[in-house]
Amino acid sequence: MTKASTAGTKTVLVCGGAGYIGSHMCKALARRGYAPVVYDNLSTGHGHAVKWGPLVVGDLLDPATLALAFATYRIDAVMHFAARSIVSESVRDPASYYRDNVVGTLNLLDAMRRAGVHQLVFSSSAAVYGCPAYTPIDEAHPCQPITPYGWSKRAAESAIEAYCKAYALSAASLRYFNAAGADADGEIGEEHDPETHLIPNIVAAALSGSEVRIFGDDYPTPDGTCVRDYVHVEDLCDAHLLALDHLSSAPGWHVFNLGSGSGHSVGEVLAACRARCNGAPDAAVVARREGDPAILVAGNAAARTQLRWEPRRSLTECVDSALRWHGRAQ
Ligand code: UDP
Repeated sequence: MTKASTAGTKTVLVCGGAGYIGSHMCKALARRGYAPVVYDNLSTGHGHAVKWGPLVVGDLLDPATLALAFATYRIDAVMHFAARSIVSESVRDPASYYRDNVVGTLNLLDAMRRAGVHQLVFSSSAAVYGCPAYTPIDEAHPCQPITPYGWSKRAAESAIEAYCKAYALSAASLRYFNAAGADADGEIGEEHDPETHLIPNIVAAALSGSEVRIFGDDYPTPDGTCVRDYVHVEDLCDAHLLALDHLSSAPGWHVFNLGSGSGHSVGEVLAACRARCNGAPDAAVVARREGDPAILVAGNAAARTQLRWEPRRSLTECVDSALRWHGRAQ
């Protein structure tokens, strides 16, 4: 039986709630009347991003602290964002990726079982698909990851699916395409160190007067630069709330792609920023980055029809909110 928290308020353990997407999720949960409790080792997350509930500083590799978190708070459901997520790092250091992303998830699943918590929303990635065989990529696309990061997410998904079948867990795996943008109020945003993602790099270059690198302009795309599906972080949070609701009415295992359904090239993202920043930043085309497919765009019909999710925020809003956040944080 799921333990209840204080009457009417559902308590959600947000693993990785001090990170980029997790912190936005906590704000969205609090707004919707949930009580978020953050579990985070602060290795890449930030204590200052935890504003909407208590913070338990702990590692998923530490089952005792994890058990204590479940014993201290009467958790109704879990959202799991805690992971390593730099693709190139995963190639150099696969051990850390399998340990944190796979073993960490197993520890979480076992802690949930012991605590009698039966609902999980899991942060997965389009990286589980590998090189696209067709586009847009729907959930039926074969999963053939090409990096340890992608494999670690796929392995975690596979464990979660098995726990759903064997142990009456209900879970939704949400496969993000390119998460982007920041909180509309400017309270939180993307704060990675090192930063590898396109939009924060373009925005930081525009604000600092430096040059951004473009990794290849000889791809088979209209302007030669890679096409990606940028989805606003607040749209992602909306999908998580809908997925959590969905688990109550449709128990079991679910997979949903989360992307806007539209692709934008690196050149278009650059142009969107330049339109706001008097032509900045300058850009230099450099060699292709290893492992970058030319085009990644989500088929998002499943989330639209089954969750009634509507990604509402445009690429311009991703760039504008990132500019507001990075401008403020400077
Ligand atoms: N990219 C780039 N310069 C940067 C960062 C990224 O040209 O400083 C390109 C990258 O090669 C890819 C796209 O921008 O084609 C999106 O990369 P990002 O790292 O943001 O997300 P990914 O698609 O790898 O998850």
